[in-house]
Amino acid sequence: MSEKKCQTIEEKQYLVRFNADTKSHLTVMDADVCLNHCPDKICTIFCPAEVYKWEEIRMHVGYEGCHECGSCRIGCPHQNIKWEYPKGGHGIVFRLG
Ligand code: SF4
Ligand code: SF4
Repeated sequence: MSEKKCQTIEEKQYLVRFNADTKSHLTVMDADVCLNHCPDKICTIFCPAEVYKWEEIRMHVGYEGCHECGSCRIGCPHQNIKWEYPKGGHGIVFRLG
């Protein structure tokens, strides 16, 4: 009998690839809110793809690696992230096996 092997997140991430658009589908709407009103910067924690990275005074958004999970639509305590689906043919591509 074959034993089912559990995959780590890193192994699962090898099963996806990305066809990134040139324009971001994610927008931090007000940089001042991040800088002055959001000490925890929780988007840098809840995003499973580590898209949000705080760089001293601004949020860098590495939209190319977004997994389109939708968490940032509800996770930002200030509703400061505008999230749209990537344009057709762009974004994450799931591969099985
Ligand atoms: S959680 Fe929202 S307000 Fe806070 S740093 Fe991230 S985008 Fe800015
Ligand atoms: S949709 Fe998910 S993966 Fe994409 S930026 Fe938001 S939290 Fe990260």
